[in-house]
Amino acid sequence: MPSTPDLPFLRGVRQAVRQSAAYPFTPVTADIKLDQNESPNDFPAELRAEALRRMERREWNRYPDLHTDRLRQKIADYEHWDAQGVVVTPGSNVMIKLLTELAGLGQTVVTTKPVFSLYTLEAQLLGATLVEVPLNPDFSLPVAGLVQQLAAHTPGLLVLTEPHAPTGYLDSVSDVSVVLEAAGQNWVVVVDEAYHQYTGQDLRHLIGGHANRLSLRTFSKAWGLAGLRLGYALTSPELGSHLQKLLTPFNVNVLTECVVEVALEHPEYMRAGVAQTIRERDRVLYALANHPKLEVFSSHTNFFLLRSADPEATFDHLLSRGILVRRQDQVIAGCLRIGIGTPDQNDRLLAALQEIDTDSV
Ligand SMILES: *Cc1c(COP(=O)(O)O)cnc(C)c1O
Repeated sequence: MPSTPDLPFLRGVRQAVRQSAAYPFTPVTADIKLDQNESPNDFPAELRAEALRRMERREWNRYPDLHTDRLRQKIADYEHWDAQGVVVTPGSNVMIKLLTELAGLGQTVVTTKPVFSLYTLEAQLLGATLVEVPLNPDFSLPVAGLVQQLAAHTPGLLVLTEPHAPTGYLDSVSDVSVVLEAAGQNWVVVVDEAYHQYTGQDLRHLIGGHANRLSLRTFSKAWGLAGLRLGYALTSPELGSHLQKLLTPFNVNVLTECVVEVALEHPEYMRAGVAQTIRERDRVLYALANHPKLEVFSSHTNFFLLRSADPEATFDHLLSRGILVRRQDQVIAGCLRIGIGTPDQNDRLLAALQEIDTDSV
C-alpha cells in the first residue's frame, strides 16, 4: 500500500493514520457506470416530489431530531425490530468507523480476506490488530480458520459480509451460525447485509436475541438512495445504546429523513428494482457462461466478478466502449467487479464483452 510521505511538521498525526492508504477510489466519468454497485434506477419521480413537499414544510434553521427517533421508529416498524436496537448513521460507512471504535480500537478485528475495503481501512486507521482469514478458493466462508482465530485472540470485532462483498457469494446459514457461535458473547459481531434484498432472505433470525450481534444495512443499494446517505444497524438495545454514544449529535439531516421516510412508505418500488436486477443478473451471467476467454462467478448480489487473463486490458476495453467497471485484481486474481445495470446498459456490456473474443482484445 502506498504510504504518505512522513512530513516532520505532521508528527502530531498518529502513525497509524500516516501509514494508512486513502480510500481506494478514483472517480472516472463514463456513459455507463457499473463500478459502485448503485441501483441503475433513480428514486421514482412521484416519490421524489412527495419527499420534496415534506422537505418544504420543515424548518431548515432548526437542528434535526437529536437521535433521529422518528426515523428509527419507522425503520423498526419496517424491519419488525425493537426501535431501541436501531441505530442510524449518514451511510453505513460511518457505522463501520463507529463499530471499529466501539470494539476494534486497542483490540482486534477479525474478518475475511478479502472483505469490503472499509473494514480493513478503518482497522488500520484506528490501529486495531487486524486478523484477516482468507476465503476458501470457491469464495465460501473459511469456517475453521475463523473459529481458530476467534479462539486465539482476545475479543474485539468480528465482521462477516453476507452475501459476501466483493465476491457476491452467499454462505449457508449453518456456516454463518457456526462462526457466530464461536464468537460467543464476548466479540461484537457484525453481519454486513448491504445486499440481502438480492438473496430473498436475511439473517435477522441469527441476530435477534443475542446482545452482541448486529446486522448492518443501507439505503444505498436496493433502495437506490446512495446520494442521500443513510445506513442503519439492527441490534440489541444494550449494544445499540453503546453505539449511540459514539454518534455525533444530529447526524442525520432533514432531507435524508424526508426521503427515507417516503421510501419506507413505498417499498414496492424497491422490490420491483430488485426483481429487475435479479432477472438481469441471471441473463448476463447466462450469456457469459461459455465465454471463451472470460470466467464469470455466480452472484447473490447486484454485481458479479469477471476473471480475465488481462484485467487491465479488459477494463480499458470496456471503458473505450463507455462502460466503467471496478478492478479487483489487487484483491482477487484477475478479477473485475461489474454492477448490473438497466437492460439496455447490460446489452451494451454484453456486446462489449463479446468483442473480446472476436478482436482478441
Ligand atoms: C455499498 C456497501 C455498503 C454501503 O455503504 P453506505 O455508506 O451505506 O453507502 C456497506 N457495506 C458493503 C459491504 C457495501 O458493499
